[in-house]
Parts: sequence; C-alpha cells; structure tokens
Amino acid sequence: MSRSDLEQAVTSLAGVGDAMAAKLSRLRIERIADLLFHLPLRYQDRTRITPIATLRAGQEAVVDGEVCAADVIKGRRRSLLVRLKDGSGILSLRFFHFSPAQQQQFAPGVHVRCFGEARAGATGLEIYHPEYRLLRQEDAPVEDHLTPIYPTTEGLTQPRLRGLIAQALKALEEAPHTLPDGIPDALRERFRLPELHACLGYLHEPPPDADLERLASGTHPTQRRLALEELLAHQLSLRQVRLRIQTDGAPPLTSGRGLQARFLTQLPFALTGAQRRVLDEIARDLETATPMLRLVQGDVGSGKTVVAAMAALQAIAGDCQAAMMAPTELLAEQHFRNLREWFAPLGIEVGWLSGKLKGKARLDTKAAIADGRVQMAVGTHALFQDDVHFKRLGLAIVDEQHRFGVHQRLALRQKGEAGGLTPHQLVMTATPIPRTLAMSAYADLDLSVIDELPPGRTPVQTVAVPDERRPEVVTRIRHACGEGRQAYWVCTLIEESEALQCQAAEATRDALTETLPELAVGLIHGRMKPAEKAEVMDAFKAGELDLLVATTVIEVGVDVPNASLMIIENPERLGLSQLHQLRGRVGRGGTESFCVLLYHPPLSAHSRERLGVMRETTDGFRIAEKDLELRGPGEVLGTRQTGLAQMKIADLERDKDLLDRVSPLAKALLEEAPDASEILIRRWLGEEAGRYGQV
Ligand code: ADP
Ligand code: MG
Repeated sequence: MSRSDLEQAVTSLAGVGDAMAAKLSRLRIERIADLLFHLPLRYQDRTRITPIATLRAGQEAVVDGEVCAADVIKGRRRSLLVRLKDGSGILSLRFFHFSPAQQQQFAPGVHVRCFGEARAGATGLEIYHPEYRLLRQEDAPVEDHLTPIYPTTEGLTQPRLRGLIAQALKALEEAPHTLPDGIPDALRERFRLPELHACLGYLHEPPPDADLERLASGTHPTQRRLALEELLAHQLSLRQVRLRIQTDGAPPLTSGRGLQARFLTQLPFALTGAQRRVLDEIARDLETATPMLRLVQGDVGSGKTVVAAMAALQAIAGDCQAAMMAPTELLAEQHFRNLREWFAPLGIEVGWLSGKLKGKARLDTKAAIADGRVQMAVGTHALFQDDVHFKRLGLAIVDEQHRFGVHQRLALRQKGEAGGLTPHQLVMTATPIPRTLAMSAYADLDLSVIDELPPGRTPVQTVAVPDERRPEVVTRIRHACGEGRQAYWVCTLIEESEALQCQAAEATRDALTETLPELAVGLIHGRMKPAEKAEVMDAFKAGELDLLVATTVIEVGVDVPNASLMIIENPERLGLSQLHQLRGRVGRGGTESFCVLLYHPPLSAHSRERLGVMRETTDGFRIAEKDLELRGPGEVLGTRQTGLAQMKIADLERDKDLLDRVSPLAKALLEEAPDASEILIRRWLGEEAGRYGQV
C-alpha cells in the first residue's frame, strides 16, 4: 500500500500520533478518507482585502494597513489600541491581552494584515483580537479560496484540522483511485450529479466567488450530491437486507381460499374495498416461494387485525404456523382473544406467549409451538426469543411496527430455520409514515395501504379545554354514560416513571368514583397483572364498566366500539402521533364520538400548535406529516429504529425532494453497477452496514 492510500489510518499522516488520533476519533475520523468527509460548518472569506472605508459592523474581513499609532489605553479594562490606516480610512485593532513585545511590533509605519469581525467601538470601527501578521511587502498574496470552519473538538484547533484535511486532499490528488466515486460516470451523467472528488475539493476549498448563501443553507449542488449519496447508501443497505432475505426459500402458501371464505362468513361485517385490495397483494406474495416482506399501513381503526387474520389463515391452510407479535402485553392479549374467538369455530389452535408467562404454562406453550399443535401463536416479543422454536413457521406478523427496530424484524428470519425455510413477514403499522420517509426508512419492505375506514364511522370531534373547566367535562361524562355510552379517561405520563403514572391514575379513579357515584368506574394501568388487566378490559367490553380510567397502556389497538368519549388529561405532554393513537380508541362505532383534550395552562406556542392540529384533523397522514415537521424523523419513528438520525450530511426535512431521486438511482445502480453499492454502504454506514448484513 502506498503512503497516500486513503483507507489508511490517520496515524499514517505526517505529525499524527496516538494523542491526535484519539482526538480525531472523537469526531469519528479514523481513516484518511474520513477527513475528506468531515465537512465545514461554514466559511470565512479571506480571499480579498476590504478597504477600511467599506467595512461594516458585523462583517468578517481581511484588512491591510499601515500602523499610525499603538497605545496602551488605561480605561475600565486596560487594552492595547493599534490604529491602522489604508488610504481609505482608519480602523482600530484592540487587544485586551497583549505582551510588551507585541506592543513593540506595532511600530508606526509597519504594514499589517489582519482578519476579524469589525464592530462599532469607542473609536469607530474596531476589531478585537484579530488574527494578524506583519507584512514585508504590501502585495503579499491573499488566500486563494474561502477558509473553512470545521466542527472540532477540544484540543484540536482549526488551523491544525485544516492542515490535516489539506494533507488528505493532497493524498487524494496523488492517488485518486483509492477513493472511487461510488456512482459510475454513466449514472452520474444521467442523474446530472457532480463528481465526488470535485465536490469534496469544492467544499473544503471553495473558490472566492462561491455562493456562500447556498453553502450556508446546505443546498449547494456539491452538498446535495453528498446528501443524495448518503440517502442512497441507506436505501441500498436496506435493499441489500431485502435481497439477502429473498435469496432464502419460503413456503409457497397456495391453498387458503376455502378456509378464508369460512372465516369471512362468520364475521359480522364485509371487508372494505381497501382491505380486499391489500389482502390480494398479500395473497399473491404468500403464494410464491420467496419470503414476503410487506408493510401494511392503515390508520387507527382501519381494520388491520382482520387482514392479519386472513393472512394467517392462508399460512395455516398451507400446513404452516403463523405468529403474531404485538409491542405491549395488553395489545397482544387482545389479539389473542380476538383470534381465539375467530379461529375456534374453524378448529384452529391459538397459543399465547408473553414474558410474564412463567413456569409450567410457559413450558407447555413452548412445547405446543415446537411440535406444531399451536397453529397460531400470539404474544409479545417473547415469541421471537431464542428459546422459542417453531415446527414450521410460515408467516410472522408484527403489529405496530414503529415500536420495533429493523433488527428485531430481521431476527424473525431465523425463526423459520428449523424447517429450512424463512417465514413470510407481514408488518403492520398505524403510524402513517409519510411517503418520503417510507422510501428511505422502509425501502426493504413492499408497501400496502389501507386507505379507507369501515363504513358508518363518524369522525371524532375534538375540543381543547383548560383543566379549570374539569367540572363541565365530568358533567359530559355523566350525560354520555347516562345514554348508555362508555368513556375513557386517560392519565398521561408524569416524568418517565410508570409507578407515578399508575399512582396518578389510581387517584383519578378515586376522585371520579366519588363525583360520579352512579357510574361503574374501572382502572387499568401497566403495573397490573395480565389477568387483572384482562378482567378489566372484559368488563369494559361487556359494558359492565361505564368509565375506564387508564394510563397510556391503552394507546395501541384497544377496541371497544361502544366507547364514544375520551378525556385525555395533560395532552400537551404527548406527541401528535401518540395523541392520534389514543384518540383512535373512540369513534369505532356508529355514534358521534368526542375527544376532550384537558390541558393545563399556560400552553407553550408549540403545544398550542399541536393541540390545534388535533382539533383540525383526524387524518392520520396529515398528523404524521405535521409531527414530522414539528419533531423530526428521528423522534417520530424512533431514532434507533431507523438510523435516520445518524445521517451525517443529509437532512430529511431540508433534502426531502432528493428522496424522489433516490429510488430510481438505487435501482439503476443495482442493475448497472452492483459492486458500487458496497462502496457506498461502507462509506456511509460503516459498521452498521455490517450489522445489517449479519442477520
Ligand atoms: P386497526 O387497524 O386500528 O388495528 P382493528 O383491526 O382493531 O383496527 O379494527 C377496528 C374495528 O373495526 C374492530 O372492531 C374491527 O372488528 C372493525 N372492523 C374491521 N374491519 C371492518 C369492516 N370491514 N367493517 C366494519 N368493521 C370492521
Ligand atoms: Mg391494531
């Protein structure tokens, strides 16, 4: 390897020892090439000399001048004041820290070049502590490019970092082939992208006439090329995961129709057009010997559970097992009950497994899953732990995907291995993922959208009410329940403590029981035993309870169509998507439903905006877009899950228009230059890409 190989560690650069390498490592710079991708935060213009007369306060500028005086000023703070003239005007340089030697340097008649920010001072325009040097001749050259300012770390100065990056640029010049472009020429031309080396060179050393405004806003073509490349790398790595999974075999499931038809005749409703369309898409995937990887996206209440059940029947009819995993015990439990009720008449055995199932019951369930007696397994993530073995898992269903990570999902792949086959995967989410995000974060999944709610639903009406009007809200509950309706009262999270949240819910239950003695008030929270929770939910479902006080455990999936009123206490503590989820618990039956956001004033501007969105719309897609705008993608989807927040250059808000170009580019690249994708993935995702690859 030549010394200039960019893959080498930074320690192979002149003057970089272990101590410097450690500092660079804090900036995630390990190899020489990493220096090239360490891009400036901003730039200074030191390429031209500014006449003093044209200098403005707040301007950073290079000034050349001749010293006319240098005096120590005794004022409130002692300072050295150097008066500089350039034929157009006079400027002062002011030093609060200075040495006697420095003072002597500035003898009258000496030529000085300085750089700094001009400000209005006691003597007119002044520059405090400028960078400066004494000139021998007046026409010494200025910088020939803009000066980059880099993100740095303690003990690493800008000039030092600049010097290292200059070395890296030189290494690149000497051995350009050691940093391949990653996007081949033909594609670059077709997609009108500038060349990688040119972009890097430009961004580290922009010419004097560069458009500083565009550079500052991150929209310069060179920056956009790099952002696009980063997004591309993320998408490629997800596609790679997909390809890897799809080289496995899956059981072709071709014989579900009869069983599905029998199931449908016992349902009290007909499927919506959207459900049928999505089911067709799923059925076609399941019939092939390639594992399905499909995301079903449908707003709360759109009827995803039935779709999942239908898919499961196709697997079971094909002599395979199906498994359904939900993120919370409560939701998993509810799925279990639903499916057991639906499947019992069909003679299908449904099993239950959660982390809380212990002892003999656990061993029995695991044995029944292992020998195939359980045809439909339902549970929490416990279902996919190492000690659970399926006889022949044909379909893995993951509900409310946004709570699980990409990696957890990929781990499912191993569950089919006992039978030598990889299960089909169906992922369901109610968090409507804006299309742009779907393309980058979920590029490994095919997308089906249930874009229609079952008929007869009336949109939930939402009002925001300050908590001093609590008595009115209580009256409202009395009326609704008096008419045979049911209501939820949701206590939101206090700090991060589940214990405190449960306490608050208990106190609320006690208070409401006292003010509403004629109503049956129930309580459900995360600290109750599964059996207790189930009992409460059953009682609420059966109408034995009028009012259910709950913590946010009821956020996902809970389904009681007769509940038509929801009070959410302190809604300002919750994100938009969570509020939307909660509100989705009402409006499931035919009657008009209401959601009362009982907030604690004063509201911040941000909170007011969020509650405003909730009042205006029940459209999950709009809410998700708004959420994305207000909170950013990392928080909406869960930072760790998506890897999006680790983006180095791309910014999904700013660069969202680029996402339209990512998919076609990824496709073309995989077809025309498959090897290049490895380069890009390694460059932008590094070790993370390795992790995806292992699964
Ligand atoms: P989600 O998509 O939020 O998971 P669910 O699957 O819980 O929604 O369905 C919500 C409610 O709508 C349930 O009570 C379910 O039985 C009912 N449902 C589902 N599909 C239909 C349909 N086609 N017509 C009428 N009701 C339906
Ligand atoms: Mg659901």
